[in-house]
Amino acid sequence: MQRKIVGFHRDQKSDWVADLACGHGQHVRHNPPFENRPWVVTEDGRAAKLGVALNCVRCDALELPDDFRPYKRTAVFQAESVPVGLTSSHATKSGVWAKIRVLAGQLRYVVTEPINQAFLLDSEHVGIIAPEVVHSVQPEGTVQFYVEFYRKPEA
Ligand SMILES: [Zn+2]
Repeated sequence: MQRKIVGFHRDQKSDWVADLACGHGQHVRHNPPFENRPWVVTEDGRAAKLGVALNCVRCDALELPDDFRPYKRTAVFQAESVPVGLTSSHATKSGVWAKIRVLAGQLRYVVTEPINQAFLLDSEHVGIIAPEVVHSVQPEGTVQFYVEFYRKPEA
C-alpha cells in the first residue's frame, strides 16, 4: 500500500533509506546505472520528496515494524461488551500499529481497505492492525480479547 515519506536516514552501509509514515524503511539508493535517484544525494533533493508516497509491501504483509513498542492497551472485552466502534469499520491513526490478542474463544478480524483479508484469531493467532488500514472485528461465539497499541519509541 502507499505510504508517505516522512524522513530519511543512512543505513550501516551509508545507503539512503526513506522513513515511511507507517514506521517501515525503504532503500532509495543512487547507484547508477542500476538505480538512478540523483535527488537522494542532496539535502534539497530529499526535502522535495517528503510527503511523496512509496509502495510498502511490508504493510501489505501486516508486518509490525521491529522497533515499535507497546504503549497502551484496552480493557479485556467479551462478546457482549465489545464496543460498537470495534465491530464497525475503523482504523488506527498514522504511525499507530496494534495487536489483537485473544485470551479465549475466537474472533473474526476483517481488513477491508486497502487490502482485503480475513483472519480467525484465537489464543495462538494474534491479529496485526496496520496504521490507517480499515478493519473491524466480530466475535465468533464467546470470546475474550484486548487490543495492544504500538508506536515508535521517542528518540
Ligand atoms: Zn509500511
